[in-house]
Amino acid sequence: MASVPFPTTLHQFQFQFATEEACQEYLARCRWPEGYRCPKCGNARAYTVVKRRCWQCVACRHQVYLRSGTVLHNTKTPLTVWFWAAYLMTTDKRGLSALLLQRQLGLGRYETAWMILHKLRRAMVNASREPLHGDVELDDTWIGAEQAGLRGSRQLKDRKAALVLAAVERRVKGSGRIRMEVIHDFTSATMNDFVVRNVAPGSTVYTDGLGGFAGLEKIGFKHVPRTQPLRTELRKGAPSVVPLVDRAIGNLQQWIVGTHHGVSGRHLQVYLDEFVFRFNRRRQPMAAFQTLLGSAVLANLRRTPQYEERRTCRNRTRTKPQQIGACCNNRISISQLAYLAPLGEATVHKSIKFRPQLIFAP
Ligand SMILES: [Zn+2]
Repeated sequence: MASVPFPTTLHQFQFQFATEEACQEYLARCRWPEGYRCPKCGNARAYTVVKRRCWQCVACRHQVYLRSGTVLHNTKTPLTVWFWAAYLMTTDKRGLSALLLQRQLGLGRYETAWMILHKLRRAMVNASREPLHGDVELDDTWIGAEQAGLRGSRQLKDRKAALVLAAVERRVKGSGRIRMEVIHDFTSATMNDFVVRNVAPGSTVYTDGLGGFAGLEKIGFKHVPRTQPLRTELRKGAPSVVPLVDRAIGNLQQWIVGTHHGVSGRHLQVYLDEFVFRFNRRRQPMAAFQTLLGSAVLANLRRTPQYEERRTCRNRTRTKPQQIGACCNNRISISQLAYLAPLGEATVHKSIKFRPQLIFAP
């Protein structure tokens, strides 16, 4: 991928991706950085079938559709719009709300902007990414508004806020990479599962004294639990035992409130993915653009069964309708809902009135 140049300024971007053909060309170069190679016969020569937007091998006539199996599959939105969305989304560290994207690109419908951003968010997790390693801080947090009538910060029942687990690498100067995930309880099994998937074996994991973290030593990690000072003491300046995670969580909360004014609990994980994606590439925002529209999308998405299931909406159940929240009072089409409905979790009915499901009240 290194051989594909990408724009580093707005001016360059505007110049480089002014037309549909230029965007197509860029996708082709992302797919074949060393030049075209037929996936069937290995031939190095092809011509483009302009009407069908595909490449056809000169020798065996095998056709390759550049958008097939990617987030751009079957899209009617111009590629230039997609490229602008990906660029704005990855290069602005505050992210982008659908309303702002709609306004900036002059899109007729809010739903189009929302769909573009959500599809891009779904492409942000690279299945083969490297796990965190070295010294890693781990902590849990609630993402959601304060709620009256709860017994303590560990009550799960009747709580509207979502529980999120975050891990941050300790580097010499501040934070390294991070991971964040919505979890459903405080049990050892849940914590261990998260750590095994996201942290390299043998790493040192720093946590507070929560009982759920106690099993980390048994599964091959060095575990350093320390007692976290009370919140009142922290406010008075007592040092946190996991300062980097605290900072990352603070940034996340401010981003959710500041940019999106709250997000739906159902979609929280994709927003976490976006936050993690941008945070881990905060020093190379322009490279993040290339990652998003380039190799990650073109090479990996088609092969993951999750993507195929989501795209084709297999195993979709039709029992009772459930709301899929968004931050606006709008209607969204059945096909759009079908695409976005996570497998087996949401049901798609004729037309669902969107209502805001703020889980983080400003
Ligand atoms: Zn061929």
